[in-house]
Parts: sequence; C-alpha cells; structure tokens
Amino acid sequence: MPTFKIYTLGCKVNQYDSGSLKYKLIKNGLKPAEKNQQADLVIVNTCSVTKNAHRKDRRMIDKAKKDNPQAKIVVMGCWFKVYPEIEKKLQADLFWPVGKLDKLIGEITKKFNKELFSNKRNDNDGVKKINNNKKTNRRKSGDGRDIIKSPGQGERSRYFMKVQDGCNQFCSYCVIPYSRGRLQSRAWEDIIREAQEVEEAGYREIILCGIHLGLYNQEENNQQKDKNLTWLIKKILTRTKKLRVRISSIEVNDISDDLINLLKIEKRFCNHLHIPLQGGEDKLLKLMNRPYDVKYFKNKILQIRKTVPTVAITADVIVGFPTESKQQFQQTCDLVQDLQLSKLHVFPYSGHEKTVAFKMSGQVDGKIKKERSKILREISDNLWNEYQKKIKKEISQFEIVIEDITGDTILGKTEYYFDIKVPKIKIEERKLKIGELIKVDVSI
Ligand code: SF4
Repeated sequence: MPTFKIYTLGCKVNQYDSGSLKYKLIKNGLKPAEKNQQADLVIVNTCSVTKNAHRKDRRMIDKAKKDNPQAKIVVMGCWFKVYPEIEKKLQADLFWPVGKLDKLIGEITKKFNKELFSNKRNDNDGVKKINNNKKTNRRKSGDGRDIIKSPGQGERSRYFMKVQDGCNQFCSYCVIPYSRGRLQSRAWEDIIREAQEVEEAGYREIILCGIHLGLYNQEENNQQKDKNLTWLIKKILTRTKKLRVRISSIEVNDISDDLINLLKIEKRFCNHLHIPLQGGEDKLLKLMNRPYDVKYFKNKILQIRKTVPTVAITADVIVGFPTESKQQFQQTCDLVQDLQLSKLHVFPYSGHEKTVAFKMSGQVDGKIKKERSKILREISDNLWNEYQKKIKKEISQFEIVIEDITGDTILGKTEYYFDIKVPKIKIEERKLKIGELIKVDVSI
C-alpha cells in the first residue's frame, strides 16, 4: 500500500485541514508512513501569516524532500494561495491552494496513480477492501474522518474542531482574507456528527475553531443565519452528554447577549473567552481597520464580567503597529490592566507585504517593538497570576481535562484555561487516562 506523510505549518485551522486530508488519503487506499519510514507521497501544508512563516515553509519543504527522496511532493495551503509564483521557484510535483480537499485527492490519485499504485496494487489487495467496507461508512462524520483516535494515542488530549473558515474583515495588518478567502461555514449536521464521534472516542473537551468563528453561518446568502455560533454550541451540548465546549477565539463585536447568557447558565460551556483586542487606543484601532473602539471593547468586557464574574478573558495584542507612539502603547498597557484581562498573547507587529499596513509610514523600530513586547508580557504574567489567585480563592473544586500523567503527578486543563498540577494520590485509586475529565480539590 502506498504511504504518505503530511507536514503542517500554521494555525489550528490548517492543522484540522491536514487531519481531514489524512483520513481522505486513508480512504483512498494510502496509509500513513511510520515515523522513520520514507513515504511515497509527501504533502506540505504551508502558512503565510508572516515573512518568517515563509522561511519555515521553505525549510519544511527541504526537510520533507531530504527525508523522503523518492516521494511525490505536494505543496499546498496559504503560501501558494497568496504567492502562486512560488510554483516557478520551488521544485514540487503538485501545487494546491487552500481547501477543496476532495478535489485535491482526485488530482493526486489521477496525477500519481501510476507511481503510487501500479507496482503496489499487485502485492496488496487491501485497497479495494477499504472502499467497500460498510462499517467504515457507518462511522463517517462530516469531513470523512471515520477513524477518530482516542485522546493520548499520539493525539491531543483535547479535540480541535474546525467549524468555519475564511474572513471578510480585511484588518489592515492581516493576510488571512487573501489566503483563506471569504466566510465559509461547515454544515451543522456534520459538526454534530463529529462531536458525537469525538465523545465516543473518549474526548471530554472540544475546542471550536475557525478564522472568524463568531460569524458562523453568517455568510451573505446563508439561509440559516439563525443557526449561529451560540445556537451551534447549544446543539452540540444537547446532542452530547459528557463533552465540554470551548471556543478558540471570538471577535468582540460577535459576542451576543445570548452567548454571554449561555456562558452563565451552561456548565459544559467553558468559562473562557479569547477576544482579540490588538490595540488600546482609537486611532490605532482605526488604522488597523478594527470594527470597534476602546469604549465599545470596554463596555463589552464589563458586561461579560458582570454576568459571569469568574470568566477567563484572554486577548491578542499587537505591539509596535505602524505609527504606535509611546503614549498609545501606554494607553494599551493601562487598558488591559484597568479591564484586568486574564492573560495576553503579545505579537510584535510583523509586516506582510500583501497587506495595507505594510505600506504605512511610521513603521516602528524593531528594538522598540522588543522592549514594548517585554513590558506587555510582564504585565500579562502578573494579570495571569492575579486571575488564578482570585479564582482559586473563590473555587475549591475544579474539573480538569487530564493533559499529562508523569510519575505521580497529573497535569490538567481547567475550564478557566489555566492548568493545575495534582499529586496522583489525591485522586481515587484507578487508572487515569489522558483526555479524561476529573474533579480535583485545590486548597490555597
Ligand atoms: S478578523 Fe481581521 S485579524 Fe482576524 S482573520 Fe479576519 S482580517 Fe485577519
């Protein structure tokens, strides 16, 4: 049976696509190559979020070729979508943009059929059997993943599920709308089926992810706009029993009263919202083409906190965006502390030549970006420590998803996004598994 390897760069959405591709290749008679085995087919799923991402793409392609000298090479994903000219510069057997994975499989089997299957078909009839296996179809979930491995078997302890792709917002620093295209939502029926499969496979937490997640089912001509993200979360929770749901990230303007209320009443909806802020001053937000101002962001955070006081609110912040002055940076620092955000993901601005911001005047010096990033990361560490202290004072029992078991210690993720380490002896005497949801008492 011909073998394959997929090398993936970039975000959770790209990783999810590679996961779907893996199952589709298995269904089409290929098998994943062992770690140290040379593969017959290699796919490199690239990223184009920054210039540095392109360097990593190139290094990964070189490594893939070196490790699999006989393989057919497929270069796909955001880098090729944004820079189709790489097809002339890079040596590969097939180039493919983003998505349309079934078509890609068709192209691969058509283009490489002889190389991949001819001499292999004779010594392995397994290929045929797979396609006609009724059992396989029974467990088929939306994206063709019919073999969801249990947590811990080389898989993650929590399951990232892509439910949406694309974005129409065009923030001035972001290349993603150019690489992943316009808003697209997966059919809710497929998502529910996959959630049930994931629960059956033993996962106890799924993280819904997308590019503009908060606009699930909000495409212009979508007839199911009422079946929005909040509706989807409720549906998943009614159609499963033991799963808890976390959302990977949501834009502040997409946070509805319904969603906040669900956060308050639904125990299985993780008490954590990751909300990109990006800048703490109005002129900066305008230059970034962000669809809100500081006042709007503040009011929304205060509304969420009033309804759900314990919620973890983490945020993305860009440091050193073109024209950012010392005062504007200070305003960002003050805002995140005034709002007592729980934790920050700090990104020193990195220009992408395909974006509007790249051509802006007032580019900030790299040394200043570094200094400011350091300051904001220290603020974030303090906020995170304060938040955890506050929560552990108010709550003594946590439900954690076991992420790691080493020696006599268990490490687990709480719904509030922070991890807790507990000595095994504190948990009842039985074999514990990665991905399991257990209750632990924490006294400070
Ligand atoms: S919302 Fe803005 S930052 Fe996020 S993917 Fe869309 S364009 Fe990029």
